[in-house]
Amino acid sequence: TQKVWVLGNGQLGAMLAHAGQPLGLDVRPVDIMNPTDDTLGLAEQDVITAEREQWPESATSLQLSEHPNFINGPIFARLADRFTQKSLLDELNVATAPWELVDNQTQESQLHQSYGERVLLKRRTGGYDGKGQHWLKQAETTTIPTDWRNEAIAEQAINFDEEVSLVGVRTQDGRCVFYPLALNLHQDGILMASIAPLSRLDPLQAEAEAMLSTIMNGLEYVGVMAMECFRVGDKLLVNELAPRVHNSGHWTQAGCHISQFELHLRALCNLPIHTPQVNYPCVMINLIGVDKDNRWISLPNGQLYWYNKEVRVGRKVGHLNLSAHTQALVQESISQLQQWMPEQYQAPLAWVLNEYS
Ligand code: ATP
Ligand code: MG
Ligand code: MG
Repeated sequence: TQKVWVLGNGQLGAMLAHAGQPLGLDVRPVDIMNPTDDTLGLAEQDVITAEREQWPESATSLQLSEHPNFINGPIFARLADRFTQKSLLDELNVATAPWELVDNQTQESQLHQSYGERVLLKRRTGGYDGKGQHWLKQAETTTIPTDWRNEAIAEQAINFDEEVSLVGVRTQDGRCVFYPLALNLHQDGILMASIAPLSRLDPLQAEAEAMLSTIMNGLEYVGVMAMECFRVGDKLLVNELAPRVHNSGHWTQAGCHISQFELHLRALCNLPIHTPQVNYPCVMINLIGVDKDNRWISLPNGQLYWYNKEVRVGRKVGHLNLSAHTQALVQESISQLQQWMPEQYQAPLAWVLNEYS
């Protein structure tokens, strides 16, 4: 049996294991936050991947990251640091929000001169779900935190029309295939909902695929990668890249005959790859800081993934995939959710309804 080890054992690792089962793959997520002295028992022919961009070095993580079949090994560090990630986009001539490194010389006034009234500082490493961001506002004379110098980049605030993302895969022999674009809604920096596919996004698909192909080919990447973008008019700007399966691709579990998790495993194990068929459009709702509610699975078009994590404010604890066979079906299930979900869900649910009105 082919074994695939995963650096990290969060929900992405669990869903990779789940997707590996029908293929007869033995997928083993590894808890690298609580390392032990145990040897994992990796064999030469095993394959290693990661469900996160960064991890602490330990005897456990080194067994995985130093294995010759650790796929995309050096790419993780390169993309985990926003400085090297944005540098890569510039080198490859892929459009991205204008930016620079914040160093000891950087002055707030000069950043406002270059980028305008609002400038977004982002920590180079460790940020997720909008954590590790700091807005500089000229009107409020906000300043660069001292310990952010050399540890952050400054980005122009993009007045985007909306956010979309593309999930694609590159095979070991260099072929790229893609899912349709997803439309994403973030609230306070965290993904609340995705809709895919959406016919009105079709005109952007080719440009998005060309951008992600350039990136994956440039890196000689293998496996699933996600590209988050801002849409400004009919142009796309890359916000950030994730060298792994991605939250905005969770809809593929219900909506496609090959999910992003299976597609990633197929690429890693050199199994046949073709463009996944879309079964039906989907709406994905992230479950953030809410208790499990079995009414969700009473929805006739609902599929629940509950991560079995401790529920905390702002923490992703599950997601709900809703199939969108008809407009009426979406309208019905979303109006049910409007009654069941707390206040912070009202705007995202209205956003979904608006797309289906
Ligand atoms: P993730 O959980 O997706 O990894 P993250 O913490 O790495 O998130 P980003 O994706 O860089 O952070 O930013 C989070 C959100 O903040 C974006 O989806 C977008 O809504 C907003 N944002 C980020 N950069 C900009 C920008 N330059 N201008 C305007 N809004 C931005
Ligand atoms: Mg990120
Ligand atoms: Mg992001």
